[in-house]
Amino acid sequence: MSKIVLIGANHAGTAAANTVLGYPGNELTVIDRNDNISYLGCGTALWVGRQIDGYEGLFYSSADALRGKGARVLMETEAKNIDYKAKTVTVSDKGGKTEVIPFDKLIIATGSVPIIPKLPGIGLENIQSVKLFQDGRRANELLDDPNVKSAAVIGAGYIGVELAEAVQRRGKRALLFEAESRSLASYYDKWLTDDMDSKLRDGGIELHFNERVAEFKGDKKVSAVVTDKGEYPIEMAIMAIGFRPNSELTAGLDALPNGAVKVNRFQETSERGVYAVGDCASIWSNASGADAYIALATNAVRSGIVAAHNACGTELASPGVQGSNGISIFGYNMVSTGLSETAAKKAGFDALVTDFEDWQKPGFMKDNHKVKLRIVYDAKTRRVLGAQMASHENISMGIHMFSLAIEGGVTIDKLKLLDIFFLPHFNQPYNYITMAALGAK
Ligand SMILES: Cc1cc2nc3c(=O)[nH]c(=O)nc-3n(C[C@H](O)[C@H](O)[C@H](O)COP(=O)(O)OP(=O)(O)OC[C@H]3O[C@@H](n4cnc5c(N)ncnc54)[C@H](O)[C@@H]3O)c2cc1C
Repeated sequence: MSKIVLIGANHAGTAAANTVLGYPGNELTVIDRNDNISYLGCGTALWVGRQIDGYEGLFYSSADALRGKGARVLMETEAKNIDYKAKTVTVSDKGGKTEVIPFDKLIIATGSVPIIPKLPGIGLENIQSVKLFQDGRRANELLDDPNVKSAAVIGAGYIGVELAEAVQRRGKRALLFEAESRSLASYYDKWLTDDMDSKLRDGGIELHFNERVAEFKGDKKVSAVVTDKGEYPIEMAIMAIGFRPNSELTAGLDALPNGAVKVNRFQETSERGVYAVGDCASIWSNASGADAYIALATNAVRSGIVAAHNACGTELASPGVQGSNGISIFGYNMVSTGLSETAAKKAGFDALVTDFEDWQKPGFMKDNHKVKLRIVYDAKTRRVLGAQMASHENISMGIHMFSLAIEGGVTIDKLKLLDIFFLPHFNQPYNYITMAALGAK
């Protein structure tokens, strides 16, 4: 029997807990400082933007569900210190009561925290980040306030873009600020983001790209955002410039430069028997062939499962990830996996791209939309490094094939005559995947 302690019970932690609880005979203690677990942050914009009826469906587990399976669950209890030599975790509950909990195996799933820049006025009221359920609830309340007529969203990554859409859907003026020249620059190349930027503009969002926020002004509550280009009156701001690994507890463990705990393919840290999973940990990128930091719920769940099996004595190596992701804004869908051309060149690859744009279905079909596909590949090895797709169609499943291709080291040439079915309801006989691959130099 092993004493397994798990710190953090959101996506990575819940996946780890459920996996551990599938093994008989272990003693699992779960610790989380929040009062809820398994909150799907990906639903925040849908809830705040009234695309779904409420937040209730955004939780898929609970402390009681884990207790029902045999775990000891300590909610609103913070892990304060880990003693790796003594193999103990010291925790403190909200009443200040402390306890020292011994472990044989430890899984750290403490996640990430929003990056909050040290700008003048950042502490003013009505400046909100969106991470926890409580943050979503506060953003929702602020948008209920009739005095809030306009909101600045800072950062046009996927969370900022989704929240700008939500603000606009609530009938408020949405101003989206981004230091880069376009939205979603970390995931997609300009050929695709140009379309997304048009959709955002057409949807009524004011785009302030190439504009860096320098200050917030106000008396108690925020009343203006100041950038290097101008000053804009607002009643609310949403901070969405990114997340950093929560490294409060992990001093002493090997880490990436941003503080993410470095793990091997078994999710084990530099300390034996201690695992790190989800947003607080590094992850192996098959696209770049290096340790990376890719904070996604999907990676959190998979890494939680891997760590739990290893902690329970079943050796299981992670296959690594491609960073597959998607976004849907005003009905325009974008999905990507692996590296964009920009990211591949930055990572030192001699990257080439092949692009194809066509209708999803034959011209005689009704309800048809254009699809854009870009495949990124390495000029030397011809290995597929990434793919990006965009359309009003639901093209989401197509990207998974590219994810597998990257994981398997498949070359662009292998995709040229790949057997892809044709049925007018779904696609064309000259499929855009085939056509893009055939167009590769
Ligand atoms: C608005 C938003 C939208 C998103 N959309 C998507 C999406 O569409 N798709 C996708 O894949 N990902 C999405 N993500 C990212 C995804 O939510 C994260 O990658 C995921 O939450 C990471 O899970 P985690 O369990 O590793 O960490 P976290 O969710 O950060 O959870 C960490 C847990 O650890 C607890 N904790 C931390 N420190 C301590 C301590 N000292 N003691 C006790 N407990 C502690 C916290 O209370 C928390 O419960 C989104 C994120 C946000 C914020």
